[in-house]
Amino acid sequence: MYKQLFIPGPTDVAPEVLEKMATPMIGHRTAEATELQKGISEKLQKLMYTENTILLSTSSGTGLMEAAIRCCTRKRAAVFSVGAFGDRWYQLAENNNVPADVFKSEPGQPTTPEMVDDALKTGKYDVVTVTHNETSTGVMNDCAAIGDVIRKYDDVLFLVDTVSSLAGSKIEVDLWGIDVCIASTQKCFALPPGLSLCSVSERAIEAAKQVKHRGYYLDLVRLYNRVKKDFQYPSTPSLSHMYAFDFQLDRIFEEGLDNRFERHHRLAEITREWAGRHFSLFAAEGFRSDTVTCINNTLDFDFKMLNKELLDRGFRIGNGYGPFKDKTFRIATMGERKEASLVELLGHIEEILGLEATKWH
Ligand SMILES: *Cc1c(COP(=O)(O)O)cnc(C)c1O
Repeated sequence: MYKQLFIPGPTDVAPEVLEKMATPMIGHRTAEATELQKGISEKLQKLMYTENTILLSTSSGTGLMEAAIRCCTRKRAAVFSVGAFGDRWYQLAENNNVPADVFKSEPGQPTTPEMVDDALKTGKYDVVTVTHNETSTGVMNDCAAIGDVIRKYDDVLFLVDTVSSLAGSKIEVDLWGIDVCIASTQKCFALPPGLSLCSVSERAIEAAKQVKHRGYYLDLVRLYNRVKKDFQYPSTPSLSHMYAFDFQLDRIFEEGLDNRFERHHRLAEITREWAGRHFSLFAAEGFRSDTVTCINNTLDFDFKMLNKELLDRGFRIGNGYGPFKDKTFRIATMGERKEASLVELLGHIEEILGLEATKWH
């Protein structure tokens, strides 16, 4: 039976988008390949509110996170973590021999502009990494305010993980001063996993040129140079994903960017209000994600049982992440999700757990 995914990735892919993955193959050094990549780039620049160069990577988003911290850090990286995906930046730094320090917030709390300012005042850092939307805790950071702080410091690059928010929430790359903005296809873009994308500033590329060991496959300068030359890639990219991506971007613009962001916001609002009535929310007020809601399991119900019952009814939701497993659960409302199916899901949860039914109007 087909199950609707309310998990924070992979998300459901519309059948007509999935079909584009089966487009007959072309050569990756042809004019058609150039046209395909150029079209995707122009659409992504619009979606990301940026004039920066768009790079695709045939890897999941973690690949570009690795590329960014490795290629951009000349001195030392300040990693701001509000959960598991923030911690990942630090692991990537360590494993690549990139000097870095991690600044953690309490679970459920955001990274504040003051924290970033305090770190940068030391003069030790030339890279800041932030998780825009921490999927493990449902915290959404204020990257505009953080960007305003970073702008005061010359030479500091701003790397942002927007893996679980780009194409669901409005992210204004140029206005916020983001040098490398990273996302994967399998979250709010509602495409199959296996491809990722980023925007890179000229500043970031100039900085990267000063870094000697940038790796090979994930060398941002190498990728950048080839894309600048003819909108192609040094290695063979996943052309199948690119066909689906190009088509999905057209669908996104058909819906309209503002409509799409508003839809994600509305679904998260419905989820938050509902969760507030029966449970409580994990993320601090004012910093709650518009794409994934992390809910405290205040009733201490058996999550496995709930998800099994939900699966029988055609839905899948997410357990808590890492240390918050069974103590929290997550409902993601990303990509293709609509209000009617969310309301249906929430009704099923009420029924299974014996909660008072919400009267929707
Ligand atoms: C899913 C996710 C990642 C990891 O992305 P992959 O595409 O699986 O590599 C990183 N950061 C955040 C915030 C995520 O939600």
